[in-house]
Amino acid sequence: MPIVKTKNNIVSVLNTRHLTDTTYVIRIECDGMEFEAGQYISLGLPGTSEKREYSIYSGMQEDYLEVLVREIDGGIVSKQLKQIQPGAKAEMDGPFGFFTLGMNQRSGHRLIFLASGTGIAPFHSFVNSFPELNYTLIHGVRYAEEAYDSGAYDSDRYTLCTSRDDKGDYRGRITDYLQNIPVDKDADYYLCGNSNMIHDVYDILKDQKIDAGKIHAEVYF
Ligand SMILES: Cc1cc2nc3c(=O)[nH]c(=O)nc-3n(C[C@H](O)[C@H](O)[C@H](O)COP(=O)(O)OP(=O)(O)OC[C@H]3O[C@@H](n4cnc5c(N)ncnc54)[C@H](O)[C@@H]3O)c2cc1C
Repeated sequence: MPIVKTKNNIVSVLNTRHLTDTTYVIRIECDGMEFEAGQYISLGLPGTSEKREYSIYSGMQEDYLEVLVREIDGGIVSKQLKQIQPGAKAEMDGPFGFFTLGMNQRSGHRLIFLASGTGIAPFHSFVNSFPELNYTLIHGVRYAEEAYDSGAYDSDRYTLCTSRDDKGDYRGRITDYLQNIPVDKDADYYLCGNSNMIHDVYDILKDQKIDAGKIHAEVYF
C-alpha cells in the first residue's frame, strides 16, 4: 500500500494555474509521497479543521503533486484553496482510494473513461502515468471552456460533450452521447464526477448488458 512520507502532512504550495474563472490546478511538493494514479488526497489550509478530497491530477512519475479544483458557490475549502499563494503551506492526508487500473487494464485492454466536470482529474493522471493506455475519454461539461487541459489527450481518443454551447464535439450530455454510439461490451468503464451522471450512465450500461464488474465509479458529490 502506498505510504505518505511528508513531514506532519504539511506541504508547500509551488504554484496555482487558473484554467477558467472558477477552476484551477494547484501544484504542491510531493516530498516522496507514493500513490497509484486514480487515488485522491485530502487537502486544506493548515490550522483549519476543514479538508476535502481531491483526485490527484498529475502523473505518478512527476516530482510534484497536482489537483484540479472547481470553486463551488458557497463552498468553504474550494474557495480557500483558490486564494493560496506560492510558498504557502497546505495540509494534506493520503493517498486514499481504489479507483485505479490493474495490470491487465494498463496493458492494451479497452478502457472507456466518462467524466463530468473536474471528474476528469483521475483520467488525466492515468493518461500521464501510462502513455500506452488504450482509452476513449468522454468529457461532459456545460461550456467548451471547461475542457480542462484537453491538449493532454490524443484528439482521436477525446470527445467533449457540451450541454450549454455548440463549441464541443457533441452538443448534449454524456448520457445523450452514450445512447447514440455503439457500446463496447468488452471494455472496462470508468465513471467519475457527480452522482447524477454516474447513476444515469450506470443505468445505460446495464441496459446494454455490460457486466457490473466492468463498471468502476468514483463519486464526487
Ligand atoms: C473521492 C473524491 C474526490 C474528489 N475530487 C475532486 C476533484 O478532483 N476536484 C474537485 O473540484 N472536487 C473534488 N471532489 C469534491 C471536493 O471534495 C469538495 O466536495 C468540493 O471541492 C467542495 O468543497 P467545498 O468545501 O468548497 O464545499 P462545501 O462547503 O463542502 O460544500 C458545498 C456544497 O457543494 C456540493 N459540491 C461538492 N462538489 C461539487 C461540485 N464539483 N459541483 C457542484 N457542487 C458540489 C456539496 O455537495 C455541498 O452541498 C472530490 C470528492 C470526493 C469524495
